[in-house]
Amino acid sequence: MDYKLWIDGKWVDSQGGGKMMIENPATGEKIAEVQDASRADVDKAALAAKTAFYDGRWSRKTPSERSKAIWKLADLLEERSEEFARVESENTGKPYKFLSLASDVPFTVDNLRFFATAARDTHGSHAGEFMAGYTSMYRREPVGVIGQITPWNYPLNMAGWKIGPALAAGCTIVLKPAPGTPLTTLMLAELIKEAGIPDGVVNIISGGNDAGQAIAEHPDVRMVCVTGSSGTGKKVMKTAADTLKRVHLELGGKAPFIVFDDSDPELVAAKASFAATANTGQDCTAATRIYVEKGRANDMREAVVEAMRNTKVGLPFDDGVVMGPLISGIQRERVSGFVDRAKSQGAKILTGGGAPKDLQKGYYYEPTVISNVQQDWEIVQSEVFGPVITVQEFDNEDQALHLGNDVLYGLAASVFTKDVGRAMRLTSQLEFGTVWVNDHLPITSETPHGGFKQSGFGKDLSAEAVGDYQITKHVMIAH
Ligand code: NAD
Repeated sequence: MDYKLWIDGKWVDSQGGGKMMIENPATGEKIAEVQDASRADVDKAALAAKTAFYDGRWSRKTPSERSKAIWKLADLLEERSEEFARVESENTGKPYKFLSLASDVPFTVDNLRFFATAARDTHGSHAGEFMAGYTSMYRREPVGVIGQITPWNYPLNMAGWKIGPALAAGCTIVLKPAPGTPLTTLMLAELIKEAGIPDGVVNIISGGNDAGQAIAEHPDVRMVCVTGSSGTGKKVMKTAADTLKRVHLELGGKAPFIVFDDSDPELVAAKASFAATANTGQDCTAATRIYVEKGRANDMREAVVEAMRNTKVGLPFDDGVVMGPLISGIQRERVSGFVDRAKSQGAKILTGGGAPKDLQKGYYYEPTVISNVQQDWEIVQSEVFGPVITVQEFDNEDQALHLGNDVLYGLAASVFTKDVGRAMRLTSQLEFGTVWVNDHLPITSETPHGGFKQSGFGKDLSAEAVGDYQITKHVMIAH
């Protein structure tokens, strides 16, 4: 399980970088050692990507050739689903059957197949006469060398979301996974080669934040794409300004889950508990703030608490487990810090609020519901990134809308109601990149994912993502 860096189609040793130990968060055991890319490694990877871009070995392939190779990559990944799912669970603590095998790997396969198809879409390229004696052509061209930096919560998915559209557009890539969870991204390297994607087109370097910083600074990188926290997004945007490179930022979230009296408490409880505990709440679109209409607030709250208590927490490879550990000891301290500070401000813990007694090893935290909180408290305003939800009440639609929008983030939100008019009003006024009605969390390859406000900008997934990796050139021909 030890890996080198993947540069120009080969495994190479880091030049002057250190080593990073990779652990299993369910046991705390070491499972692999990888390299911590240095600036020299970033230079080497960027040079490989630049050479591959300008000699046209990928960008000048026909859309059909690019599509075929991306599709083959999806097939190869699908053939090795169990192996990828196992490593993803060992590296992140995700429940193997419930998440890695049932969702993370097949969704990545589906994402790649979608982008294989999107590679052949000619949308945006057209020609016309806009001045007498001239024909104008709009060419959609690949942006160039792309730096891509991913987080630890969905390592394989995030790699697929990044490389899929960039490859479809004809770009070349330097991809850096999060320091603690690089394994499945590194495992993709040989599949990329086997799929027929030429050497140097996708370079994968494990490394820490400094390696990310070096990618964002690199003069040959034309665009830097980050999925990560809003703090990191701000730093990367500042860094990118020096070379005026494009930025594509998928950042944090703090999703409201707004429940009106006409909703069914059982549906609300099932959806809220799933959306708050899936991936142990380490999901940028996780349900984090429940707002319930006053009339039936008690019923809704009790149903949610009951469902959170019934969430089966356990070892990733045990049957029936739907929630594993948090990613690390540091993350558990962070989550418990938020909950403890809320408690000291006067919040009431309705369930959870600590590590489960029966899971001594690993970084587990109980599904937690908190009430008696105020809108301006840290627990309501900041991204906790753990299985923790707050519950507040509202009097009417205007107040629900105000509370829902009243955070710096704008990634995802949901509304539960049977009143179609109300749902339509709220979906148009909630400032979030995704708004669900009577559900929370479903996602598809065809539909765009990305934020408003401090959740960033640019879209992952969908044809829009491919467009983000393209640049329009106007060619004007006199005749
Ligand atoms: P993070 O911001 O700490 O790190 C993300 C990546 O950025 C890592 O690879 C890291 O090494 C790199 N990085 C850190 N500092 C950098 C710098 N100065 N320059 C360049 N690269 C740098 O985030 P994380 O803790 O790994 O992931 C959790 C965060 O990701 C949460 O905030 C979550 O909401 C967000 N997230 C967002 C989405 C989305 O689609 N919007 C999806 C998943 C996760």
